[in-house]
Amino acid sequence: MMDCLYGKCIPYITDCVLGELEKLGKKFRLALKIVKDPRFVRLTCMHKGTYADDCIVQRVTQVRIVC
Ligand SMILES: [Zn+2]
Repeated sequence: MMDCLYGKCIPYITDCVLGELEKLGKKFRLALKIVKDPRFVRLTCMHKGTYADDCIVQRVTQVRIVC
């Protein structure tokens, strides 16, 4: 999956998603490794807490308004 995706788009990772992965621990170590790849663009979060679901929904909605 990653091989074909890398050619076509830029994967983004937000602070709170990373925070959640870190909280989830061992099982998600591989995911953590993948998202720390330099090809991932890191997005900084300004909101409180680390609730990643709300954050992603908010970001997608914001982009839609701008476009
Ligand atoms: Zn966030």
